Amino acid sequence: MDIQNLVIIGSGPAGYSAAIYAARANLAPIVFEGFLKGLLGGQLMTTTDVENFPGFPEGILGPVLMENMRKQAIKFGSICLAEDVNEVDFSKRPFKIIGSKSTFLTHAVILATGAEAKKLNIKGSNEGEFWQRGVTACAICDGAAPIFRSKDLFVIGGGDSAVEEAVFLTKYAKKVFIVHRRDVLKASKIMAERAFKNSKIEILWNSEVIEILGTDFVEEVLIKNNKTNTIESRKAGGVFFAIGHSPNTEFLKNRLQLKNGYIVVEKGTSKTHIKGVFAAGDVQDPIYRQAITAAGSGCMAALDAEKYLSEMGYTI
Ligand code: NDP
Repeated sequence: MDIQNLVIIGSGPAGYSAAIYAARANLAPIVFEGFLKGLLGGQLMTTTDVENFPGFPEGILGPVLMENMRKQAIKFGSICLAEDVNEVDFSKRPFKIIGSKSTFLTHAVILATGAEAKKLNIKGSNEGEFWQRGVTACAICDGAAPIFRSKDLFVIGGGDSAVEEAVFLTKYAKKVFIVHRRDVLKASKIMAERAFKNSKIEILWNSEVIEILGTDFVEEVLIKNNKTNTIESRKAGGVFFAIGHSPNTEFLKNRLQLKNGYIVVEKGTSKTHIKGVFAAGDVQDPIYRQAITAAGSGCMAALDAEKYLSEMGYTI
């Protein structure tokens, strides 16, 4: 079996940016774009307008942005496969990557499988109900949309993300309610202070959204107090899940060093503890998680991989 220079696993902004850079460096990368596990194009495939990716003053649809990145990667010689990776073997060199249809041996690997925002299965929150019609899992991506302007918005969660997203939403909302299941925030003190000091934020303690209602878009939420079991109805323009993310690293367990599920990289680089294995995008980033930071880290990973391959004298 031929040995490839580089296999990239994942096809969000990190995977495609890595592919564009690697292809332009004549590495002819193989890109596993994902298929069944929904990785193809990553999280941006599930958003509508992306207004914070530089270069698009009028905004760009998430799926269009990803299709453009894909075309750019292919134009320079990336080989894109609509397949999931089921298994990796980093214990021997060359590394072995086993996909649902193809298997490759490769000198270097970039892991860019992303993360998924966790969602709750609340009545009214699903696809075909109010998902993306007032219910989202990313306030920073979607919060500026006109449907949320001057409305009462509800952020579910009690961690740093919930506070950060609530503070962000106060720019547009009439009022932001943080709906938290306990009576104390998990968020860091400094972030919690920001929520307490912001007059547009109110925290609903020991509370859970149990149903989301509306006609075309979200109009109302039912909130249950889990101490008193009382249920109240509130007018709502939007519901934002901020209950954490799950990195897509299931297939890497016991293969690579992970922390809270995220791939550990050497600070300021894309290098994992295995030489020749690099990581980019949300799969190694529990903090920033933006399309632009993912794209930037994809570029870093391609440059790190290129340097590694040429230092090792591997490049085909
Ligand atoms: P966290 O895991 O820290 O917090 C998740 C929150 O969601 C918790 O309050 C949790 O409740 C709640 N939650 C989880 N599951 C459910 C559920 N089923 N129903 C209701 N509520 C639920 O995730 P974050 O995304 O907030 O943060 C992840 C990491 O990123 C952290 O390390 C954080 O510090 C970091 N971060 C830092 C930021 C910054 O510094 N600016 C900004 C954003 C994130 P409970 O408290 O009861 O467990």
